[in-house]
Amino acid sequence: MPDKHVNWFALEKACAKDGCPVCTIVRERSARYIDNMLFEHVSDRGFRERYRNSLGFCAAHARSLESYRDGLAVAILGEDILSHVLPDLKKGRPTKVRGKCPACEETERVEREFLGFLAESADGDLRDFFCASEGLCVPHYRQLTAQNRRTPSWLKEFHEKKFTLLLARTRAFIECSAWGRQDDFAALSPEDKVVWKEIARTLRGEAD
Ligand SMILES: [Zn+2]
Ligand SMILES: [Zn+2]
Repeated sequence: MPDKHVNWFALEKACAKDGCPVCTIVRERSARYIDNMLFEHVSDRGFRERYRNSLGFCAAHARSLESYRDGLAVAILGEDILSHVLPDLKKGRPTKVRGKCPACEETERVEREFLGFLAESADGDLRDFFCASEGLCVPHYRQLTAQNRRTPSWLKEFHEKKFTLLLARTRAFIECSAWGRQDDFAALSPEDKVVWKEIARTLRGEAD
């Protein structure tokens, strides 16, 4: 794998941040991908065709277009899509969607690459910094186990322990939220008082 070291450094950086490291990488890479498409490839025929086939980006990726300062590129892409669908809208028939959101496709490629890299890595340093991070969200861990024939035991143990602990903390939060348990609730740690946020985030991931 020629860019193995690039992935290693990207993971190390992402592991130093809060949240699932693969979600962090996906968020950064998809922002970079969209930025790159707007600034460099807005007139690229291959990209434009894929963009038209999918009728533009999905809702989550399209939302980010408003945060880019290049209004011209967004306008060019938007003009293309609207002029493509308007005749169908007038005829009252839905325009066929012929492909997936190009930014989602890029996201899936990045996820496959990093989850494969993580499962194959036998590097001790990588293991150390990964185990000091929050670890993968549930969707990314599921994807890792589905994509790789064998999940390395260190990754399996790390995530099973993490999810088991999260479940126990969530159950304690639910129990302490019962009427008459105000004192027990007050005794919970600051993290445990907001564990509902953590379980929501862990179950859905934060890739977009
Ligand atoms: Zn994730
Ligand atoms: Zn998308």
